[in-house]
Amino acid sequence: MISVEEARERLLAARPAARTEVLALVNARGRVPSPTAITAPVDVPPFANSAMDGFAVRAADLPGRLRIGGESAAGAARLPDVVPGTAVRVSTGAPLPPGADAVVPIEQATVIDGEVEIAAAVQTGNHVRDTGHDTRAGERVELPSPLTPAGIGVLASLGLAEITVVARPRVAVLSSGEELTPPGETLAAGRIYDANTPALVAAIAEAGGEPVEQPRVGDDPAAVAAALTTAAETADLVVTSGGVSVGAHDHIRDAIRRLGRLDFWRIAMQPGKPLAVGEIGGTTVIGLPGNPVSALVVSELLVRPLIRAVLGLPGDGRAHLPAVLDEEVGKDPERAAYLRVALRQTDAGWNAHPAGGQLSSQLRALAAADGLLVVPIGEPAGRAGATYDTMVLRD
Ligand code: AMP
Ligand code: MG
Repeated sequence: MISVEEARERLLAARPAARTEVLALVNARGRVPSPTAITAPVDVPPFANSAMDGFAVRAADLPGRLRIGGESAAGAARLPDVVPGTAVRVSTGAPLPPGADAVVPIEQATVIDGEVEIAAAVQTGNHVRDTGHDTRAGERVELPSPLTPAGIGVLASLGLAEITVVARPRVAVLSSGEELTPPGETLAAGRIYDANTPALVAAIAEAGGEPVEQPRVGDDPAAVAAALTTAAETADLVVTSGGVSVGAHDHIRDAIRRLGRLDFWRIAMQPGKPLAVGEIGGTTVIGLPGNPVSALVVSELLVRPLIRAVLGLPGDGRAHLPAVLDEEVGKDPERAAYLRVALRQTDAGWNAHPAGGQLSSQLRALAAADGLLVVPIGEPAGRAGATYDTMVLRD
């Protein structure tokens, strides 16, 4: 058995190469810019302008009474000069007229017969936004990664309509099992609904990948091989569920072995011990266990960081916090347990309570959980009152 950490390192070491694509800014939120810094092509703002509605003046003329020599509105290209003894009306964002070195807000001015009375002195530069005070042309601009609304605003303010981002890795999702029926259809005897396909599609999208849903496949070796071949040709990464155990109807492992190369790993984690990892035609295939909790927790711990690594994002992108388990929960001492827990903040810190049954077929508890509490290898149980690292599953 290998540890979760080792499994993650091995997967990351063989990760698919990243591609890039060019997107319109409006479609780039949450995407990873490539590169993550750009050189500003222009000054922002491109000209000195007024930060207030008021009067552009020469500071040396004040306090005093000035003749109003014209107006500079936002968007104006031609401006009246502010000659000594005059002021020019300005609106917020209007270019600072030549000759002016300060702006007096309208609230501090009294207009009488084409003249303006300003009672107080002003400092040079008052309410003036200098050229490039946000960004200078030629400056290196670090972009937030993934891109935020503010980051997109910065790009737009620089006049850029598009941005190059890392393409989402295409992840084929292939569920296997003769018993699986698509949700929405009537269940025949002995059948269950396929929970893994929609759940894994959602998990992959949440991690930043582009899920490519494959038609479900039954427990027929030839059909499994054909489905895997198609999936590997379609995608940067293939994630399957089911069919990786030792049962007579588990064909995913054999198919990977025959079509490419198989590394079978037993991971020292609970839920989710068996994992078939391999490669078909150069595409990494991750064969998750079929039990829905196992499939999703292993995906969370291994597929999510892998997708993030392809995107150039670090770690799992989850918050980790110490939480006190409030109830004893038994486990296999040889494996790390990822308990599905509800978190509650108390005066003493975070309290963790099992969010429901901890069997790998009890998906409701995972849906109810705020986090995965990790009881390390070596411990026979999660002990009531002990503090454990807990990975938060919610934003
Ligand atoms: P397997 O790994 O194929 O032996 O499946 C283990 C358990 O998970 C069995 O009880 C399956 O019925 C169940 N299972 C497998 N795939 C799915 C799926 N896509 N949705 C819901 N349950 C599944
Ligand atoms: Mg099966």
